[in-house]
Amino acid sequence: MVDITDVLLNEGKRSEYVTSLQTDRFSYRFGKFPLVGDRTVRIVLENIGDKKLLLEGEASLTVMIPCARCLKPVKTALPVQFSYETELEETEYIDGYNLNVDQLIHDESLLVWPERVLCREDCKGLCSSCGHDLNEGPCGCSATELDPRMAKILDIFNNSKEV
Ligand SMILES: [Zn+2]
Ligand SMILES: [Zn+2]
Repeated sequence: MVDITDVLLNEGKRSEYVTSLQTDRFSYRFGKFPLVGDRTVRIVLENIGDKKLLLEGEASLTVMIPCARCLKPVKTALPVQFSYETELEETEYIDGYNLNVDQLIHDESLLVWPERVLCREDCKGLCSSCGHDLNEGPCGCSATELDPRMAKILDIFNNSKEV
């Protein structure tokens, strides 16, 4: 929470706030993702009159996202940047005279969320039959022995990851 009283009370006022996210992870319907490294956020807020605000933000976050194939967590850059006008009464991020920076950045980060993360381009993934990490070598199962029940479970898992 950042105190934005000065901007709310003064038409034409523009202020910059540099703060740090309090949360150390993002939680969405599709999972929880730890934030690592710098969590600095820069917010610029301007009271443009008529109960309207200009809201700008910027953060270079790093988040751990599981590899789409082998599920190993991968350090992924999340360059959050936004700028828009909003009605004071419509924004859900202002509570009294405070701006809920964590919630704002959490929601904005979804817009730059990578579609698919791989630990490396040629990641071999997990054996669909026994779950062995094929990057560490073959497991002994043959690809033709794929258990149809396991394949179904993998399908469900893959579908559930789509936002
Ligand atoms: Zn991988
Ligand atoms: Zn296997």
